[in-house]
Amino acid sequence: MKAACDRELEERFLRYARIDTQSDEASKTSPSTRKQYDLLNLLVKELKSIGARDVKLTDYGAVLATIPSTVKAHVPTIAFLAHVDTAPAFNGTGVKPIVHRKYAGGDIVLPDDANIVLSPEQFPYLAGKNGEDIITASGTTLLGADDKAGVAIAMTVARHLLENPDLPHGQIRIGFTPDEEIGRGVHANLPGDLRAEFAYTLDGAELGEVVYETFSADKATVHIEGVSIHPGQARDKLVNALHLAAKVIDTLPQATLTPETTADRQGFIHIYQMSGTAAAADLHFILRDFELEGLRDHGELLKQVCATLQATEPRASITCTITSQYRNMRYWLENDMRPVELAREACRQLGIEPISTPIRGGTDGSRLTEKNVPTPNLFTGMQNIHGPHEWISVQDMARAATVCIKLAELWSSAPHVAPSADQVDQRKAVDAAALVDWSG
Ligand SMILES: [Zn+2]
Repeated sequence: MKAACDRELEERFLRYARIDTQSDEASKTSPSTRKQYDLLNLLVKELKSIGARDVKLTDYGAVLATIPSTVKAHVPTIAFLAHVDTAPAFNGTGVKPIVHRKYAGGDIVLPDDANIVLSPEQFPYLAGKNGEDIITASGTTLLGADDKAGVAIAMTVARHLLENPDLPHGQIRIGFTPDEEIGRGVHANLPGDLRAEFAYTLDGAELGEVVYETFSADKATVHIEGVSIHPGQARDKLVNALHLAAKVIDTLPQATLTPETTADRQGFIHIYQMSGTAAAADLHFILRDFELEGLRDHGELLKQVCATLQATEPRASITCTITSQYRNMRYWLENDMRPVELAREACRQLGIEPISTPIRGGTDGSRLTEKNVPTPNLFTGMQNIHGPHEWISVQDMARAATVCIKLAELWSSAPHVAPSADQVDQRKAVDAAALVDWSG
């Protein structure tokens, strides 16, 4: 990978970032928004033009392609994945990416809103980027480095490998998926359609990130039915659902066990939405923990709060429904750490210190790993995602691309051993443990 790849990465990134691909949680379709096809169709075209094989757009909006193996030995097929959608959390329409060539340090003021300033004091990672080419949005939109950076890296890696068949690697699969930001990036057919033994999502942040630990996650909905009566005749009859909703929130811990009071390996119960009338109310929570036991405890606590309130007000009806979202990928990966170890080794060989801190969130890799396609997450360089301060260094993207190429090479000489019977048993044990919790 030479400086030419920097320019390619930059050009690809700018082209993809200008395309509005926001996903929409309220939509029932897959992909959730038609506009994601604007980028998906472009990627199909570009993959064909660089000579990728089996280029396919699935009916659920994933683009898949193959880079043929260049070695004789049978080595595991690995996949590089990125998501095309951007977060609905902030304006993603009319993105105007700006390249700040050879960043000289100091504040970067964005032209469309002078209040949006990127300062190395506030964002220390920027302080290490002097001399690099920094890309920002213009102040009124997000940038969409999450995850157009991953898309640009995967495309550049694909082009580079196809043009250099002397580089040793097994079969590589490339995948671009919609709707990651709304938690629907892994369609039921994706693990099968991917046809890869291992995968990597290019959806991480700081240089060197090789993440294989994510939260385990459940969603909880509390539905409260009160007793609705005209307020003029309400004495001793009205049971106000909104008062009961307020009690649920007030009874839950607030000085602990919330996102704003926890860090590192602590989990939480987070209310993120409530709606209702005096007659009925709904409270929406997410429950997070690194361990299944902790996750179960959070669910039990919420259920207990509801049950206690129900006992004090039998005229109301209070139900608490918990559904599974995703599970910590560590449970699967620790039985076969090759995908993690090789990614770390690729970083080290390129002089990059690998970092494997657990992330307080999930990735598409969490769901894929559960479906037996172990999928750690690799860095891209993206920073301050989902808002107007988002930025990325072109050189970080280039480092990520170089790691992917090295990784493909390392896999081509990795011993192709199927997991031992022991490990398979352990995987099944994890499956069972996770599934028990699913019904919770
Ligand atoms: Zn992302």
